[in-house]
Amino acid sequence: TKVRSTETARARDRRHLWHTWTPLTADRSELMLTHGEGYRVWDADGNEYVDGTSSALSAICGYAHPEVTAAVTRQLGRLHHFDLSRGSHEPAGRLAERLAGYLPPELSRTLFVNSGSEGFDAAMLIAAGYWQHVGTPRSRMVTFALGYHGATLLSRDLSALPRVAHPFRSPLPVTRVELPVTAAEARRPESLPLLLDAFEKAIGDDPDDVPAAVVVEPFLNVGGGIVLPPGFLRGLRDLCDARGTLLVLDEVFTAYGRSGRMFACRREDVEPDILITSKGLTSGYVPLAAVTVQQRIHESFGRDPILGGIRYGHTNSGHAVACAAALATLDVLDRENLVARAEHYGTYLRARLAGLTGADEVTDVRGTGLAVVVETRSGDTAAALLARAQARGLLLRPQGPEGKAVLIAPPLILDAEGAEFITDRLERSLADIA
Ligand code: PLP
Repeated sequence: TKVRSTETARARDRRHLWHTWTPLTADRSELMLTHGEGYRVWDADGNEYVDGTSSALSAICGYAHPEVTAAVTRQLGRLHHFDLSRGSHEPAGRLAERLAGYLPPELSRTLFVNSGSEGFDAAMLIAAGYWQHVGTPRSRMVTFALGYHGATLLSRDLSALPRVAHPFRSPLPVTRVELPVTAAEARRPESLPLLLDAFEKAIGDDPDDVPAAVVVEPFLNVGGGIVLPPGFLRGLRDLCDARGTLLVLDEVFTAYGRSGRMFACRREDVEPDILITSKGLTSGYVPLAAVTVQQRIHESFGRDPILGGIRYGHTNSGHAVACAAALATLDVLDRENLVARAEHYGTYLRARLAGLTGADEVTDVRGTGLAVVVETRSGDTAAALLARAQARGLLLRPQGPEGKAVLIAPPLILDAEGAEFITDRLERSLADIA
């Protein structure tokens, strides 16, 4: 009967479910997951896997964490939510205060939304709104051509990757910066002046065309797992200050320990004007994203001529259950030292996997914190490697415009046994395809 019910579930799925980011010829119901615990998940056919991708790169606490689960259940039974445009609830304020506590004093005000894409859209609205409110309207944005900021019409327009491209142009003018070096070269110190030079040109020196903001990810994840050189964020902050433009950091992926720091920008002591975070915030247990802004930006919205505040929000902005999940996730993150753990196991995995570059199939091994990238010769090579790894019980994902980078981003609760499993299965999978 178990086999029959799995087949029924698959048939249902094939007939009615529209899978995100999936070719219609692919059958995602082949990997039908039923439950998880820690960094492991099980499928309906009884196979066990180590999840090397933390669900959607979000499950920093792993699966079925008792503390996060209990916090969610407790909040659900008490008050699932109350509309923040009409009143308030305790978890939202506690979470906003908690985030401010991790950040420099000026970054003290948080607007909550439900996804990284919405966070990005809100950040763009806030950046352009700020300039309007201070009397010098600006709307041009400067971004990486290989950036990924989401799937809504606005966030995808500022993500120029071919897979995300669409024919509708957003209302915001955008200047896109091409990477002046290869993905493998980007992290080298020699690339720093080239990168900063490209951004300086994109920002320009026309006093009538100052950008509203420069908006980047500290690690180009979807763009191919590209590590930027040390000093890049600091240099960008200085360029923005010199030109009087805002720096917006999209830390949807990197925040909450993934980069080996609580926030990637803190590695270089950089303070963005606007910081977007999501994914790890609730460990993905409930959708939530945060847009945290400097005090003066929040205050400028008092000058909005119609409302005297931000004219923006969603039904579920700052959902109480999501905030409760986030507070519990942050408790786990602090108590179990997940930030240090990410740095430790990330460094370990990169050192162990560096040896793979001896094989013809692997062109580079790099990463930041517990985001490790194995770049292969081609998209086909990466696809073959991923298929072998899955057959050997390790779930990974392809990354980059050509899909040739393999991303390893397991839950931050990884331990020595899990790290060993990942290296062993990757080495064997590579031997399978060699
Ligand atoms: N920004 C970055 C850096 C991301 O990695 C993602 C998601 O992968 C997003 C934004 C969009 O977030 P969401 O998928 O929650 O809309």
